[in-house]
Amino acid sequence: MAIVMSVNAGSSSFKFQVFEMPEEKVLAQGNVERIGLENSIFGMKFNGQKIKEVMDIPDHGVAVKKIMSALVDNKIVEHLDDIQAVGHRMVHGGEYFDHSVKESQEAIDKFIELTDLAPLHNPAGLLGYRSFKEALPHASHTFVFDTAFHQSMPKENYLYPIPYEYYENDKIRRYGMHGTSHLYLTQRYAELTGKKIEDVNIVTCHLGNGGSITAVKNGKSFKTSMGFTPLAGIMMGTRCGDIDPAIIVYLQKKYGYTYEDIDNILNKKSGFLGVSGISSDSRDIEDAAAEGNERAILAEKMFNNRVIETVSGYIGLMGGADAIVFAGGIGENSWLHRKEICDGLSVFGVEVLDELNKDVRGVEKKLSSEASKMEVWLIPTDEELVMARDAYKDLMENA
Ligand code: AMP
Repeated sequence: MAIVMSVNAGSSSFKFQVFEMPEEKVLAQGNVERIGLENSIFGMKFNGQKIKEVMDIPDHGVAVKKIMSALVDNKIVEHLDDIQAVGHRMVHGGEYFDHSVKESQEAIDKFIELTDLAPLHNPAGLLGYRSFKEALPHASHTFVFDTAFHQSMPKENYLYPIPYEYYENDKIRRYGMHGTSHLYLTQRYAELTGKKIEDVNIVTCHLGNGGSITAVKNGKSFKTSMGFTPLAGIMMGTRCGDIDPAIIVYLQKKYGYTYEDIDNILNKKSGFLGVSGISSDSRDIEDAAAEGNERAILAEKMFNNRVIETVSGYIGLMGGADAIVFAGGIGENSWLHRKEICDGLSVFGVEVLDELNKDVRGVEKKLSSEASKMEVWLIPTDEELVMARDAYKDLMENA
């Protein structure tokens, strides 16, 4: 038995889970928010209990100390040395990493080289790793990348039709994101249906505030909707997803926008928020749409249509699929979005009946009818578990 942590560091936050492995039992989960700002928040759930403290946490190092003392004080671990392995979410692994790797100077150097590809996320991942490494110097640390699962995409599916030298010189290509989630959904679908991973041909829809869809062919990522950055693909909470790139040039010319302005408009002011003018949160949009708000109704239709056309395209590209899997905050909770999307896929013989789908949230369930030509599943995703599994695997291999 080993205690393993998964850690997701943001520029001003930490999310963590503590597992007993290999049982995969969650002992605790929590987060630190507003690191470096006033009134930082520490929260943790364990053993049916919940704690929340508002305090000043000036940096990530102090945040880790707080997490560690909370784990010991609440007897989740007896000593810090009991934590034998940590899986770190490192986000962008570029073309270097197609699976998780154990910490090494070589891996750190490569990771730092990739900072330009994820200028906000990669430094946060590194800071998180360094803070935990200092607190747990004897533990085994493993780097887990959001891009790794998608490294199996064939070249024709990851290249952009722009001059080839931008790929060769600047590594501009589709990388995809949410790989840890799409991998989990693939593995879990295989378990639930008794299939071998290499026989899994599905489309996984991770629909949250950020969203991406992946064509999984023979158990591997074949194409995914996020691209060079997470801005691409379907419409999201505040991100536009795919748009005509000439719009950017047009707006720059017309309004004199800088690249920061454009970045802000497309990443923070678009998507559900931009179209509805109400909110980035799909719950607010659903409520407004139910009251007849036209732009909320439009935003919902645009989102659903983008998902339908992406899933349809992927089914064609893969030469057919056995199932569609829903996950993420919207995929796991909003039966109406699932209904509209599945109705839009009826040309493939997809049939999801209300009695199987309505009000279902947050549970593993097959939603399609017996008559459906393609299965539809709801599988709550679990990226933290994948991180803990990879960290545990490294720990065992190096034991
Ligand atoms: P995520 O980024 O995966 O946490 O997903 C966030 C999105 O999921 C937001 O748009 C939320 O509105 C949506 N979401 C979360 N819970 C629900 C719910 N109970 N019903 C509908 N949408 C939800």
